[in-house]
Amino acid sequence: MSLFDLDRTQMAAHLSNEPKFRLKQLWSGIYQNLALPTEQTNLPKALRESLGANQELQLALTQREVLFADERKTIKTLYELKDGKEIETVLMSYSDRATLCVSSQAGCAMGCVFCATGQAGFFRHLSAAEILEQVFHGARTSRDVFSQRLSNLVFMGMGEPMANYENVIAAIQLIVFEFGISARHITVSTVGITPGIRKLASQALPVSLAVSLHAANDEKRSRLVPINDRYPIDEIMDSLEFFAEHSNRRISFEWAMMADINDTDQDARELAELAKRVGAHVNLIPLNPTPLWPYPGSSETAVRNFRDNLVALGINATIRRNRGNQIAAACGQLITQRRDKVRRRIESFGR
Ligand code: SAH
Ligand code: SF4
Repeated sequence: MSLFDLDRTQMAAHLSNEPKFRLKQLWSGIYQNLALPTEQTNLPKALRESLGANQELQLALTQREVLFADERKTIKTLYELKDGKEIETVLMSYSDRATLCVSSQAGCAMGCVFCATGQAGFFRHLSAAEILEQVFHGARTSRDVFSQRLSNLVFMGMGEPMANYENVIAAIQLIVFEFGISARHITVSTVGITPGIRKLASQALPVSLAVSLHAANDEKRSRLVPINDRYPIDEIMDSLEFFAEHSNRRISFEWAMMADINDTDQDARELAELAKRVGAHVNLIPLNPTPLWPYPGSSETAVRNFRDNLVALGINATIRRNRGNQIAAACGQLITQRRDKVRRRIESFGR
């Protein structure tokens, strides 16, 4: 149990000797003013102290490291969980918004060969409270460092959100209804877990969906993204058509640009065909170096050519500006354990 595990009823139980309005005061103090119970000076001192000493109201995350980059506009935070596992978030400030990249799991079981988190393997799911608390800290940092309200959230940190579906949705609900971040400003990024895509389509929350495609034919995609064997491209496309029919929310494809591996004209043609079928926007991501993946990302020219190719084929494609590269702040670039399975897959790309 931690502070963010409590719903209003459970919180009320800790205030049983207090006047009724305290609950509302304490709750809005946390979710609107982003203040911990011990910091809420409008509460009586004795109550603050007893709440602060209550084991069930402690935080679940301990901040271990904070790194700044991009003229202090990007902040990476490494947290330790109660059981010693580590996760990270990345906060990015732009002129018109502040975006937090959150983790949904400690590690990831999907094993994408170019991804630092995939290379490290899976440790465990995060609870809804552990996800929520990342948002609490991110929103505070955004306010205190950037004087900006946290406006956008992307599930592009460590882990596969659709593999931890219930907790991710529970957290999103509270993020929308308690923290007041608009569902339209929340993006769930998935490697293509089709049951999750279908469930999300039926969910009332109008969040955006990003699918990490990286290759547009099964032979190539299975080598980069092993879970493609279980959920191949045809099935992903079916689930996306279902998603598009059941919601008018935006779908985008993520494509990490790898030189000669997925940046050829043929790749652009195959990708354009898929994007057209579901009206997807394509996000081209410059590849971040990771410990076990030895091949270079596409050159800037190759990335621009690829984008131009897609645009000429009628696709809405943009290049994502890489934030926090110096501090390895991309996708879960934590210290990586060596895993033979991943290494063998990577060796299959030997040239
Ligand atoms: N598991 C989810 C969300 C987390 S990964 C998913 O895969 O979609 C967030 C994004 O970062 C994904 O698009 C992922 O493919 C991408 N990514 C992973 N490793 C990367 C790397 N080394 N360089 C660039 N993008 C990477
Ligand atoms: Fe997991 Fe996403 Fe990394 Fe693949 S890219 S290993 S799904 S976190």
